[in-house]
Amino acid sequence: MIQLEHLHKQFHGVPVLNGIDLIIDKGKTTVIIGPSGSGKTTLLRCLNLLEIPEKGKLTVGDSRVAFKPGEKLEHRTMMAIRKQTGMVFQNYNLFPHLTALGNLMEGQVIVQRKSVKEARSVSLALLEKVGLRDRADSYPHELSGGQQQRVGIARALALNPQVILFDEPTSALDPELVGDVLQVMKDLAAEGMTMIIVTHEMGFAREVADQVVFMDQGIIVERGAPDDVFGRSRNERTLQFLRKIQ
Ligand code: ADP
Repeated sequence: MIQLEHLHKQFHGVPVLNGIDLIIDKGKTTVIIGPSGSGKTTLLRCLNLLEIPEKGKLTVGDSRVAFKPGEKLEHRTMMAIRKQTGMVFQNYNLFPHLTALGNLMEGQVIVQRKSVKEARSVSLALLEKVGLRDRADSYPHELSGGQQQRVGIARALALNPQVILFDEPTSALDPELVGDVLQVMKDLAAEGMTMIIVTHEMGFAREVADQVVFMDQGIIVERGAPDDVFGRSRNERTLQFLRKIQ
């Protein structure tokens, strides 16, 4: 359902993605691992066009775009791709002036033009799903990091995307709060949500991923089933990375 073909991205002339080819199947969980600075976050941000690649092609569902250096994307194309991709950020990025419920309703009412009544009912059901129905009226600063991140996930789900992109969703959390967030993600994986997750949680990756992608210096060095990448890799760069984080 998502295809990247020879994607290139640079910042101020410095290449960060050097020709990425990747296929993401519908209903599967893809986990991206790799050293800091290898381009994982940039890759994720290119998928929903928060960053615009200079070269290559991106297909998301039935939207397909070919990037050319210096060429601006059509607004319509950009919106078509963004509509299909939800994003969960490392630092939650909730609207601080809105309650948990308000955070979930905002996009549905403003972007999707749903009625307040419908948006409210969808939002309450999603808060229930992430275990926070009783915190609907709390503001972000009244919630723990783990609760804020679960609101962040529910907010992404509220827009009914085809795929959810997670950018290190647990790395800002105190260790005791990580489990609840990972559990929500495991439940989504089991329900067949398509997810692409940048994470340093190797135990989670091994347990939940259908596909593990190892990136280094802006390229995909290796990808495969978790047992192959974590247990049977013969690639020296992968092995070196895995040794370091153990
Ligand atoms: P990772 O997620 O693997 O840690 P990133 O994608 O965040 O890697 O970053 C890859 C490289 O791109 C890093 O060298 C980083 O400094 C650089 N980079 C990322 N975003 C920007 C930006 N907006 N402007 C300039 N350089 C950036």
